[in-house]
Amino acid sequence: MMLLCTGGTVIEELEKVSGEKSLLEKELSDLKKKYKDRETELQTLKLYLFLCLFPVQTTLGDRESEISCLKDTIHSGEMERRQLHNTIQELKGNIRVFCRVRPLVDGGLSEHIQLPVGNKRIRLVRREKSHTGGPDTQKNFTFNFDRVFGPQASQHEVFEEISPLVQSALDGYNVCVFAYGQTGSGKTFTMEGSGEDGELSGIIPKAQENIFNKAEKLGEQGWEFTFTASFMEVYNETLRDLLFTGKKRPNHLIKRQADKVTITNLKYVKVSNKDQVLGLIKTANQNRATAETSRNERSSRSHFVFQMEIQGVNVGRGIQHNSTLCLVDLAGSERMEDLAGVDERIPEMTAINKSLSQLATVINALAKKEKHIPYRDSILTDLLQGCLCGNGKTLMIVNIAPEPDSLVATLNSLRFASRVNSCVIRPTTDNK
Ligand code: ADP
Ligand code: MG
Repeated sequence: MMLLCTGGTVIEELEKVSGEKSLLEKELSDLKKKYKDRETELQTLKLYLFLCLFPVQTTLGDRESEISCLKDTIHSGEMERRQLHNTIQELKGNIRVFCRVRPLVDGGLSEHIQLPVGNKRIRLVRREKSHTGGPDTQKNFTFNFDRVFGPQASQHEVFEEISPLVQSALDGYNVCVFAYGQTGSGKTFTMEGSGEDGELSGIIPKAQENIFNKAEKLGEQGWEFTFTASFMEVYNETLRDLLFTGKKRPNHLIKRQADKVTITNLKYVKVSNKDQVLGLIKTANQNRATAETSRNERSSRSHFVFQMEIQGVNVGRGIQHNSTLCLVDLAGSERMEDLAGVDERIPEMTAINKSLSQLATVINALAKKEKHIPYRDSILTDLLQGCLCGNGKTLMIVNIAPEPDSLVATLNSLRFASRVNSCVIRPTTDNK
């Protein structure tokens, strides 16, 4: 009874377990089926997604190669533009001389200066009293320049002629622009102007605006630029750092390595926008040595040199170039006789005359492609050697004061200009 009972329980138990097993098996098989269905669904979705995305991917690929082709075209266009730009600049002359006549204080122009049409000539008329009692004679001196700016010429007009040179500097060529002339003839007005912005600003601030704008545009084509500014003054054949603000001024040495000139102990400041440079100009101007002459209360007796080293790198194309843009406001070119009774200024004057004369000699030798260029004979030319040599572009702006009592100084300035580049300027004396 007991066994039966026990046996019955076991059988019942077995039946129960077997029922549960087949339920579980069914459930498993259902799950397997569902899993299979899901997997098929997933594969279908994957296929669907692939089919949907395939055209997008193909289009993206096409676009990418199209963009890369366009980039190549833009780059080769840019390189071609550089080459053409340089050819044009070389045709205009790697050494150019402009002349700018300042207006009279009350506007207009003196009788003794004539500006024939065509913007390339200036004529000085000198009346001479007859020693024999006959009628007065008139002597005319005509000079040809690459460009002559009359008293009405705006700062903008002048800069329009300089801007291609700023482009050359950004393209990797050295560029030097000088303002030459007697004190009061408009050198500082031409180089710096009055006011940092706007119509009256000069070449230096306008060049900064121009250069940073152009660099930004080239940035879109993969170019990255590094700009380093320095400001110096050459006073009495010594070099002074115009950004130095400490107490004990260090000495400076001019060091040359291949074409690169470095000045020891000079403050080189990395700049990345126009306002930074304008701030440095302010510091430099506060530092600049000025002294009195009989002509101008705060006449500048030193050469003011602003240098901007430019490094252009295009990583994607593996191209790099270095150049320097150098803008110089030269010391007044007046002669000894203008400094009546200021004896202590004579050594200063001798140094200025010597370095200006040396500058003319160097530029002239460069124009004639002479083998030996005497850079080292003055601090100014030694310092600018890296920038003047090679394939660089040099522009001299001869500033003229129109007052009749400046006629002798004006004639001297124009004669100096003819020394700078006798190939370009042909002074003629006529007696019409
Ligand atoms: P420099 O630097 O040769 O000694 P400045 O540039 O200081 O001479 O010019 C002397 C004066 O004449 C300044 O007051 C200047 O503003 C003014 N000046 C010079 N050139 C011009 C010009 N083209 N138009 C108007 N004013 C000028
Ligand atoms: Mg000046």
